[in-house]
Amino acid sequence: MSSEPTSFSAPKGTYDLLPPDSVRWQGAVRLAMDLFAAAGYAPVDTPIFESTGVFERGVGETSEVVGKQMYTFTDQGGRSMTLRPEGTAPVMRAVLEHNVHRGPLPVKLGYAGPMFRQERPQKGRYRQFFQVGAEVIGAAAPVADAEIIELAVRYIAALGVEASLLLNSIGHPGGNCRGAYQEGLATFLRDNADRLAPADRGRADTNPMRAFDSKEDATVLVMKEAPTIDAWLCAECAAHFAEVRALLDAAGVAYEIEPRLVRGLDYYTRTAFEFVAGGLGSQNAVGGGGRYDGLAESLGGPSLPGIGFALGMERLMLAASAGLPASVGIDAYVVGVGAGSGAGAFALTLRLRRAGIGAELDLAGRGIKGQMKDASRSGARWAIILGDEEVHGGYVTLKDLASGTQERVPADEIERRLA
Ligand code: AMP
Repeated sequence: MSSEPTSFSAPKGTYDLLPPDSVRWQGAVRLAMDLFAAAGYAPVDTPIFESTGVFERGVGETSEVVGKQMYTFTDQGGRSMTLRPEGTAPVMRAVLEHNVHRGPLPVKLGYAGPMFRQERPQKGRYRQFFQVGAEVIGAAAPVADAEIIELAVRYIAALGVEASLLLNSIGHPGGNCRGAYQEGLATFLRDNADRLAPADRGRADTNPMRAFDSKEDATVLVMKEAPTIDAWLCAECAAHFAEVRALLDAAGVAYEIEPRLVRGLDYYTRTAFEFVAGGLGSQNAVGGGGRYDGLAESLGGPSLPGIGFALGMERLMLAASAGLPASVGIDAYVVGVGAGSGAGAFALTLRLRRAGIGAELDLAGRGIKGQMKDASRSGARWAIILGDEEVHGGYVTLKDLASGTQERVPADEIERRLA
């Protein structure tokens, strides 16, 4: 016999978003999509789950995210599915599947939605979290890198978040570039194996650069002496990086070069960046991104460069100081009394709404005092009173809830008066 639960709570590592936080949140998402649109990025939405291979092949099996954090399940048809842990591989999958890349390039897309990673929950770290992101697919030039980075910088600033931009180039996989560096780094890791934390001793053979992401104290200490990639970049990657920096300098975007920044996902090439904000404790990365010129091919598509970023909304909202609206923005509250209550108040409310004016009415059968109180609670600028006198006289009483003044307005002119 199953025991009947008497109450439920949200699963560990998840949260409920309720007003007023949900209102501020939605304002922040809308702001992102508006900024993206003004730079030519159209919205994209992909499923919340994908075939597991999209992430195994796209993000890479040696990454922490794919190796340890995915919510993978077998569906009723025996297929392996995964709740998306990130947004870039699915967007690329969608672009390739629908041949969007055969049309005009670059394809510029922005998204906002939940991601899922089975991490140990703590402040700023959840199992379902929300990212906003943007991608430029089909552009190899450094100006695409600069555009993407500046867009993220501007959005973060618009939210009133103070974050530093860390910038690096991690080259390309070739033997004259990152390939050679990784061999050099692997040798360093092997030479220092006994000083590394036991959990990191295998890094030399799997993915040596990942050792820079280790949180183990012993490894962090060793990695301070490790060779960094800057000296190993090939001429093309070095020139690309120099041009990105020059464009950011010209745009007045401040950054710090961080040669130990490698980022957690395997698909990055060349430009990699991260935004770090103060006051968030250990989970201080509010977002990051980079170039992913090899991603399309690893998903079975053609060679197709790309660059993008993803920002974590929970951490941004923890750090945000911009005055995002915390109420839904009702303009008018219709107070119905006597002959004006019921159908009369309802009809007037709908008239206002149809004219694009935010309007509410009493849904609880309150008297005039209760309705006036509810009008203040609603945040409305105006109360529109419809009582016996108003109905018979063909007018409404318009009360300015901020100043307390009131006036009579002919009933058929009220929309025009408030527009
Ligand atoms: P990533 O895709 O790992 O580069 O993550 C980009 C951003 O998403 C991070 O900088 C965080 O702000 C956010 N993020 C990633 N994982 C989590 C998580 N488990 N909980 C909350 N935010 C996250």
